[in-house]
Amino acid sequence: MKVTIIGAGLGGLTLARVLSLHGVDVEIFEAEASAAARTQGGMLDIHEENGQVGLRAAELMDEFRAIIHRGGQSVRVLDKDNSLLFAEGDDETRGRPEVDRGELRRILLESLPEGTIRWGMKVTGVRPLIEPAHGVEGSGEIEGREVEGRGAEGGAVEGREVEGREVEGRGAEGGAVEGREVEGREVEGRGAEGGEVDGRGVEGRGVQGGAVEGRGRYEVEFADGTSVTTEVLVGADGAWSRVRPVVSGALPAYAGISFVEIDHRDADAEHPGPSRVVGDGMLFAVAPGQGFLAHREPDGSLHVYAALSKPAGWIGQIDFADTAGAKKLLADEFAGWAPELLALIAEGDGELVPRTIHTLPTGHRWDPAPGVTLVGDAAHLMSPFAGEGANLALLDGARLGEAIVAHPGDAGAALAAYEEEMFARSERAAADAVAGLAMVLGPDAPHGLAGFFAAAGE
Ligand SMILES: Cc1cc2nc3c(=O)[nH]c(=O)nc-3n(C[C@H](O)[C@H](O)[C@H](O)COP(=O)(O)OP(=O)(O)OC[C@H]3O[C@@H](n4cnc5c(N)ncnc54)[C@H](O)[C@@H]3O)c2cc1C
Repeated sequence: MKVTIIGAGLGGLTLARVLSLHGVDVEIFEAEASAAARTQGGMLDIHEENGQVGLRAAELMDEFRAIIHRGGQSVRVLDKDNSLLFAEGDDETRGRPEVDRGELRRILLESLPEGTIRWGMKVTGVRPLIEPAHGVEGSGEIEGREVEGRGAEGGAVEGREVEGREVEGRGAEGGAVEGREVEGREVEGRGAEGGEVDGRGVEGRGVQGGAVEGRGRYEVEFADGTSVTTEVLVGADGAWSRVRPVVSGALPAYAGISFVEIDHRDADAEHPGPSRVVGDGMLFAVAPGQGFLAHREPDGSLHVYAALSKPAGWIGQIDFADTAGAKKLLADEFAGWAPELLALIAEGDGELVPRTIHTLPTGHRWDPAPGVTLVGDAAHLMSPFAGEGANLALLDGARLGEAIVAHPGDAGAALAAYEEEMFARSERAAADAVAGLAMVLGPDAPHGLAGFFAAAGE
């Protein structure tokens, strides 16, 4: 069995690592030109109960421990006047060590056999292949019109109506046949060979073995015009997955929050004010609808997210090519905040980077589809306010890999086992992310958040 993964993010890489460890044939197609094509900024706290479980399955715990940012679990919560509401040092007992995202990706990349990743391969489309298993062919009638079909005994068949109107069908010999007529009005039916579909007099005569579809094989098309056919296809291609549409019609929706990312290099020497404000680990300086979320990185720089509750089009109106102008606009949004906090904007080095937060619906799931599944953000994009997205991507990759190894030759069973567990855990995390956003930037900010940390520490 060969597993084709789209996307070399944390989810796809962990899956590939677990499969490689167990000798399963695997390849990754990644849109970016190389491992170094984009800086992977930001810190991630990797949780004992999920992200670390994934890394353990990938046999990368030693490498992980070596990149932990000691002190990174320290937390400070401030209000808009720079008053300290909560502070806690990092005694390394919180079970959520911080690592640099780029370093985490590096240890996963280095763990894979040479040639596993095909870089510069941007997927533009994915379509199911319809293949008869035994090449059974026949013709029949639907509502008096001629229909021809190809199919397989007991297997898949596609029916295509020949008078200009297209009819697709799925079914099995002597069993159920589903028909879906595409022509403005959609007709779905179910029936048996030689029988009736929803009273519409559809006859399955002539299509021996009934109507049907392929066996979970997909054609993946790339921007360079080439394509591959897959046996087991995994969409690990993030928020705007090109694989997702084959299993689900869901699309990410704007969550009402926009971020502007700001970096401060060599903070102790160059930016002592922001350095003190952020402290050794994480900072939350928040009020209802806006605030600063920041991390100190292992190289002594600061990574700041200015977060604002804004309409979808707001960030697109800012000219980020004019850094000074963008800083002024952003600072105006924080009018009345303490000067120490405004310095997080004013002293930023380099360009500001805009980012909008999108999510899939909480509880996003799909019906089992042979030969294809999703991991990570492609499956369950959520806001970062539960700090779970990267952790779930690591665990998804590991769990799917383990399921494939545990069901040799039976991809359907492997995918079903993985999905059942993944749907449940991602629904819980997505609900936590919704609650987290309400706590960090909702009407009770920053007091709800300070109380949450205080209670967690008791
Ligand atoms: C601002 C911010 C802060 C966050 N903070 C945290 C945090 O503190 N903790 C946490 O756990 N999570 C956090 N997250 C979430 C976390 O970043 C994601 O959940 C995680 O990266 C998902 O991993 P992934 O492998 O599913 O997808 P990604 O990391 O998005 O990887 C997808 C890969 O697919 C590739 N790709 C995309 N499209 C195509 C295509 N068409 N063809 C081929 N390749 C393609 C991409 O180039 C990329 O390499 C944060 C997210 C944001 C936006």
